[in-house]
Amino acid sequence: MPEGPEIRRAADVVADCIVGRVADEVWFAFEHLKPFERQLSGVEVRAVETRGKAMLTRFANGLVIYSHNQLYGRWYCHPCGERPDIQRQLRLAMHNRKSSALLYSASDIEVLCESELAKHPFLSRLGPDVLAPATDRVLLLSRLDDKCFRNRQLGGLLTDQSFLAGLGNYLRCEILFVSGLHPRRRPVQLTGSQRIRLTEAMLHLPRQSYETGGITNDLVRAHELITAGAGFEVARFWVFRREGLPCYRCGAPIVKQVLGGQPTYLCRQCQKMI
Ligand SMILES: [Zn+2]
Repeated sequence: MPEGPEIRRAADVVADCIVGRVADEVWFAFEHLKPFERQLSGVEVRAVETRGKAMLTRFANGLVIYSHNQLYGRWYCHPCGERPDIQRQLRLAMHNRKSSALLYSASDIEVLCESELAKHPFLSRLGPDVLAPATDRVLLLSRLDDKCFRNRQLGGLLTDQSFLAGLGNYLRCEILFVSGLHPRRRPVQLTGSQRIRLTEAMLHLPRQSYETGGITNDLVRAHELITAGAGFEVARFWVFRREGLPCYRCGAPIVKQVLGGQPTYLCRQCQKMI
């Protein structure tokens, strides 16, 4: 599933395509959304925002298209009238004179007004957005101290969208490795320096991933690996999907465990239980 940085990059592309322009035609595949086509067509798009893994497209008349890509949803932006050559179901199309923003395969699409947004069952449960400028070390430390979260295992906590919105499995694995913390550790057990390392990784890695198109590894190392011929997917991570390969810090093999139903990658030497 795409995580916060990937959704934000997709939102940037969609925003370039439609924000500040009148959406001459808005089209929905789902019958229950058809009545909104007339309400949104001919209205200017004001903003494209993200909330964790959800995207909000705001129109000048106050209506907002909420979309969540889940596993398969994908945005494409093309010159108006062109379509990608793919075997997917188009679910939402927004056309203006120059461009078309097209959402394929997503099933979680709604049209909401501002008051409905505030009560939305998914959005109202979200914690702070990991990429939001207001998300800083002080805020993250207070989240770790919160009685709802401080006794939870970090492996499950980091991908709980009510704790922090936008982290998924690869960011969870990478943050815990860079912090030197085992996924079964809990916030209440951490020393002051461990808490600082964890919050720095929670802030830094998603932002670096957003800026680089998905690299959480050390950037110098990733660049050297790519220059030496390694593929992007090989070069981009510290531990994620590197089962059996040597840890970049200590040389021990990276192991894969299933935690909370999701594969977790870690170095047992660098991420001790204590
Ligand atoms: Zn290691």
